[in-house]
Amino acid sequence: MIYTGGTIGMVRDAATGALESCDFENLAANIPELAHIDADIDVITFDTPIDSSDMGPVHWQQLVKIISDNYDAYEGFVILHGTDTMAFTASALSFMLQDIAKPVILTGSQLSAQVIRTDAKENLLTAIEIAAAKDADGAPMVPEVCIYFHDELMRGNRSSKISANNLAAFASNNYPALATTGTDITYHREFIRKPSCRPFTPHYAMDGGIIILSLFPGLEQNVVESTLASDAVKGVIFRTFGSGNAPQNGWLVNSLSKAVQSGKTIVNISQCATGAVEMEKYVTGRQLLDAGIISGHDSTVEAALTKLMFLMGKGLSQSEIRQAMNTSLAGEITL
Ligand code: ASP
Repeated sequence: MIYTGGTIGMVRDAATGALESCDFENLAANIPELAHIDADIDVITFDTPIDSSDMGPVHWQQLVKIISDNYDAYEGFVILHGTDTMAFTASALSFMLQDIAKPVILTGSQLSAQVIRTDAKENLLTAIEIAAAKDADGAPMVPEVCIYFHDELMRGNRSSKISANNLAAFASNNYPALATTGTDITYHREFIRKPSCRPFTPHYAMDGGIIILSLFPGLEQNVVESTLASDAVKGVIFRTFGSGNAPQNGWLVNSLSKAVQSGKTIVNISQCATGAVEMEKYVTGRQLLDAGIISGHDSTVEAALTKLMFLMGKGLSQSEIRQAMNTSLAGEITL
């Protein structure tokens, strides 16, 4: 179990009333069941537990290193993480832990473990049970990176945080749950990834030269052009309307096309929570296809962003990135 921080282990500052990160011992004291669970668990904690707003590629690299160093010694991994950016971390790890064949289950809670009505206990104890679960042949039941939260096990790179206060804080809008829990845990085996036959290989480099550009009626030309002109911007996650559509004002497609020709990668994902980009469907989408923009298919924003960071981090060419964006690397898109 890797403890990174998050509400699950937070305590309230007496003076301000704000929640702040605290150590694992405090969390464990509030969940005494941990000592009685039928699994051998070792705990590694971040030196300084953090609110997940402070998470970034350096922390993802730290998680990859911990898992890689301990890969052979454990049957599964549970990561305790703040909910705010959990879907970004889960998506990033699904690419960085290449060909993982063991469960990596991220969880946390909306209410701190100190609160009587907390959701921490159920989320944590069930995540451990799932990470330890084996099929009839003794193989891990869920050999992939997942989020377990409020009765649902979701593929990590298909999940998004959808509520700041409901206990059902996450949804996997474009892919079914991998397991659901009630009195029993029911695994939906047909949706769980089969482990790859390639050996597990950790990957560390992530390229952050990316911006998320979200369309809205009234978006101005100079704002878009100055963003795309920046040398620091090498990739763009372009959040478009509906099935991947954008206005036909001329200047937008011109500046996007110029950016693609100068070597930048632009990936089209929908602003809608469900459904996929289909640029062939309308002329407002087709113009983007003609400008050299890549389909993000039915990606979440978290998966599209971290996939592009990962591919650019590998130093791939524009055409290699295009090809990889059109391939499901870790179950992140439906083709
Ligand atoms: N701000 C907290 C975090 O993401 C929220 C949570 O854990 O629910 O660390």
